[in-house]
Amino acid sequence: MGFQKLAVTDIDLSTHAPHVRQWLDDGFAGEMGYLHRNLEKRLHPDQLEPGTYRVITARMNYLPADTQPIEVLENSNKGYISRYALGRDYHKVLRRRLAKLASQINALLTEEQSVDYQFRAFTDSAPVLEKALAEKGGLGWMGKHTLILDKEAGSWFFLGEIYTNAPLAIDQTIVEDACGKCSACMTVCPTQAIISPKKLDATRCISYLTIEHKDSIDEALRPLMGNRIYGCDDCQLFCPWNRDAPTTTEPDFAVRNGLDQPELLDLFALSEAQFRLLIQGSAMGRVSYPQWQRNIAIALGNGAGGKDVVNALTHKLGRVNPMVDEHISWALERLKGNATFL
Ligand code: SF4
Ligand code: SF4
Repeated sequence: MGFQKLAVTDIDLSTHAPHVRQWLDDGFAGEMGYLHRNLEKRLHPDQLEPGTYRVITARMNYLPADTQPIEVLENSNKGYISRYALGRDYHKVLRRRLAKLASQINALLTEEQSVDYQFRAFTDSAPVLEKALAEKGGLGWMGKHTLILDKEAGSWFFLGEIYTNAPLAIDQTIVEDACGKCSACMTVCPTQAIISPKKLDATRCISYLTIEHKDSIDEALRPLMGNRIYGCDDCQLFCPWNRDAPTTTEPDFAVRNGLDQPELLDLFALSEAQFRLLIQGSAMGRVSYPQWQRNIAIALGNGAGGKDVVNALTHKLGRVNPMVDEHISWALERLKGNATFL
């Protein structure tokens, strides 16, 4: 099915519940109100899917080969898009595979036990505490950057889950935390969003700011965003366990439409219809056109400037909405201090 690892775990998330509740109470979820709304379902799999007794948790590598992430980050004419979003929408890919896997397991169980069990597949689309389940099942440990890490696979993988009432045997493996004294992810994070090991202030995280946050971005954070226009991978890029991480062999996760190293000016010039066409079939549908324009305006303001950039920014003033205009004005103002403004 293309999964690199699977594990079966029980549904007891009681050791994780206090941290999750505290994190939400601290306001670190920002505008992600859905995390508050569905908390009990998230903490109790059998409240999301009544009768759930076991969770099959799975991971699938997604990093496309040769996307030159550091070169893109260092080139202010280009836009950086998080590596997970370069190919086809992983939600569809993983859910389809998980559903197929579930039906095959069910067929075997039905043959052996003459019982028709229930299975339901999820991928980052329902209130599922997926990292905790993956850690419990032994798919890896939670790194200081809050992602699941494996010594061989690094962290460039998607997680998916199958909830079931089938009485499957539990995997007992616990993967030891191997972060040790390293704190590279915390140091390199451009906005210092990892405020302590395993504690992320999402309201400072560039992934949240560029994708989840709908309105104006705090001016103090804009210069720190560089050319990251959709998500951010720095905490993964500099993690030593990712140095030799495997790339994906899934054709669905291959780079589409040159999204691995697009020119900012090309992206900024797109109309809403062209933008929709560019991201069709990808996981990038979470951003609206104004968010997209906002993110690119910030990236252009953080770049080297020049006549073409100033003209493009000025040309877009008054064309999308006041929120975008405010970011364009900020970018123009910031570039004025730059020798190559014109
Ligand atoms: S994704 Fe980027 S901004 Fe968010 S924690 Fe990682 S390095 Fe920091
Ligand atoms: S960069 Fe270091 S501290 Fe952060 S997740 Fe990787 S190993 Fe752990």
